[in-house]
Amino acid sequence: MVYTLDPRTKRLGIMGGTFDPIHNGHLVAASEVAHRFALDQVLFVPTGQPWQKEDHKVSEAEHRYLMTVIATAADARFEVSRVDIERPGPTFTVDTLTDLRKQYGEDLEMFFITGADALSNILTWRDHEQVVEMAHLVGVTRPGHNLQNPGLPSEAITLIEIPALAISSTDVRARVARGEPIRYLVPDGVAFHIQKHNLYLDANPNPDPTIVGIL
Ligand code: ATP
Ligand code: MG
Repeated sequence: MVYTLDPRTKRLGIMGGTFDPIHNGHLVAASEVAHRFALDQVLFVPTGQPWQKEDHKVSEAEHRYLMTVIATAADARFEVSRVDIERPGPTFTVDTLTDLRKQYGEDLEMFFITGADALSNILTWRDHEQVVEMAHLVGVTRPGHNLQNPGLPSEAITLIEIPALAISSTDVRARVARGEPIRYLVPDGVAFHIQKHNLYLDANPNPDPTIVGIL
């Protein structure tokens, strides 16, 4: 989609993710795109059953949703949507955008935010031509991944550099399992939620219930 600057139209950023857990890399990317594109809101949309992550056990949707709410609560630009959690079956971006369009109505311009790793697969996404018609794609840098247009028309996509934070949810989970600190990698409330519910300890055969390293 070619984006415009019509002041009457709501400009909505959409950041889909597993958010297992949400971390500061996600928040910095969303904040930077909100600023660069003068977005009215960024909607974080935790996935339902993830179809591209069959290799590890994904936490219950309610935990991922709650951590996303906790992480975004203090920022007036950020909201969280349950559309993908409530739709049965695997999450496809085309369904996310269709549901949001129904929910928000016609006066809406959608900007789908995605990191360099996810962007490189976009041509494998279901109905990717329709995705590109429904939303302007914003590809953001991510350390360790090359940011480039995966072959879409140049007016459909903008690539932007954001302050690099080499954080991944995989690394956060592994740190928790090893009893290493995650403070400053995730918002404090997310770390408290992880600790309170003993998340991500299954990789550790002898978990320390106080997880002293976490905060
Ligand atoms: P996992 O390690 O479990 O795959 P993740 O850190 O990649 O987790 P996701 O929930 O898979 O997080 O990512 C959601 C979106 O956020 C994706 O588009 C991803 O590219 C982007 N993203 C994740 N981490 C960063 C980061 N540090 N900087 C920029 N973008 C990021
Ligand atoms: Mg990922």
